[in-house]
Amino acid sequence: MTDTIFGKITRGEIPTEFLHEDDHCVVIRDIHPQATTHVLIIPRKPIPKLSDAAPEDQALLGHLLLVAGKVAQQLSVDNAFRLVINNGEEGGQTVFHLHLHILAGRNMTEGELATGLH
Ligand code: AMP
Repeated sequence: MTDTIFGKITRGEIPTEFLHEDDHCVVIRDIHPQATTHVLIIPRKPIPKLSDAAPEDQALLGHLLLVAGKVAQQLSVDNAFRLVINNGEEGGQTVFHLHLHILAGRNMTEGELATGLH
């Protein structure tokens, strides 16, 4: 399996501020924010994309959603945020290590963000 920048970040090989970290995932700010609040939840396990996840990843995937809710609360955006997972090149994915985007702080009902990222 090919390593990615997110593999290096989750292993601590590239110094990056973690807004949250635990045994299963880390949360970082997106380097090119698409909204006032734009953070990434990255599992330590390098699953390339969501459609590669296996039944054994069920608990991990649930954990990532729970962390998303907690981090949204921590960042005081829990009343209005969007979770996005881009899957595959044509789905807008650029880093092939599964990650969830939390987007918040812009009107989420109008414009580009109404339907997703990009
Ligand atoms: P995706 O297009 O869903 O694969 O999202 C990849 C995201 O990772 C993009 O929003 C990038 O801005 C972001 N990104 C890429 N490299 C870094 C990095 N070193 N630190 C933080 N975010 C990054």
